[in-house]
Amino acid sequence: MSALILDGTKIAQEIRSEVAAEVKAMAAAGVRPGLAVVLVGHNPASEIYVRGKVKACEELGIYSEKLTPSETATSDELLAIVEDLNARDDIDGILVQLPLPRQVDSKKVLLAVDPAKDVDGFHPMNVGFLSTQRPGLVPCTPAGVMEILRRSNIPIAGREAVVVGRSDIVGKPAAMLLINANATVTVGHSKTFDLPGVCRRADILVAAIGRAGMITREFVKTGATVIDVGMNTVTDAAEFQRFFAGHANREETFRKKGSTLIGDVHPEVVEVAGALTPVPGGVGPLTIAMLMYNTVKAAKMRRGSGVPELSRA
Ligand code: NAP
Repeated sequence: MSALILDGTKIAQEIRSEVAAEVKAMAAAGVRPGLAVVLVGHNPASEIYVRGKVKACEELGIYSEKLTPSETATSDELLAIVEDLNARDDIDGILVQLPLPRQVDSKKVLLAVDPAKDVDGFHPMNVGFLSTQRPGLVPCTPAGVMEILRRSNIPIAGREAVVVGRSDIVGKPAAMLLINANATVTVGHSKTFDLPGVCRRADILVAAIGRAGMITREFVKTGATVIDVGMNTVTDAAEFQRFFAGHANREETFRKKGSTLIGDVHPEVVEVAGALTPVPGGVGPLTIAMLMYNTVKAAKMRRGSGVPELSRA
């Protein structure tokens, strides 16, 4: 048996088309949603992520603005930038790209973002809205996980879901969304006893760990849906061989680039899972698509107009 591969790129494209149509309709009514991205310093990974976000805005007709304070920016300077963006009517979404430099109090800065413009969904107000099932802004990656499940017609209600990882950004909100969708949810983490046994209960297994290929076949019930949130870079040739020996395409990429991207799920899981998200091309593309969706949602909510429903993320 070989798992059905859930094509995140295709699902993200569907969502982007829906968001673009919404932006067009809003433009006809004289409204252009706007996203401000605050990128502090020169973290190469952050620069790549921000470039992708700005490009997506351009493609969808969303106004975007990139603010680039220096690596030495203080908490007070960033708070002043956030306050200014909070006050601007042409900005609907504010995203402070993490991680912030060490001298900055990240929690304080994130707390300063107006919850109505908090398109990352990290503000405690939005966390509370999610847990009490009130309208609000939901973190993009977990919302993307739900879109993959729903648009792939994976049954959720009444099923056993196990989320491995309990971060505020991915694991906890993913667990909350699955509870809200009537799954029976268990959250595993580094202190969980018999994690493979706990995971084998799952009809839906979400891996958000940050450990290359940790979820091997012994964690997976036959036929389960496995959502791999992990994004890890393999550069070591021996490690590469351990995961991808005999995968011709991967071998070629690795030879050319000297690295490859791998999720938290071992490639062998394709032989036991019923459905599986690939890395790359699974959850990753959904994150930016959901950011675009959140920006439009924020623009509409701030103006008191109806929010476009995706699949009720
Ligand atoms: P994180 O904040 O480091 O959290 C990792 C979680 O995994 C923690 O709860 C940790 O448990 C748990 N964990 C670590 N080692 C474990 C082990 N050996 N056994 C069981 N649990 C273990 O990471 P994150 O921000 O949630 O991100 C998780 C992964 O998703 C990373 O690979 C990240 O790059 C990726 N990610 C992808 C996207 C995307 O767009 N696709 C977006 C965000 C993140 P404790 O709490 O006990 O320490």
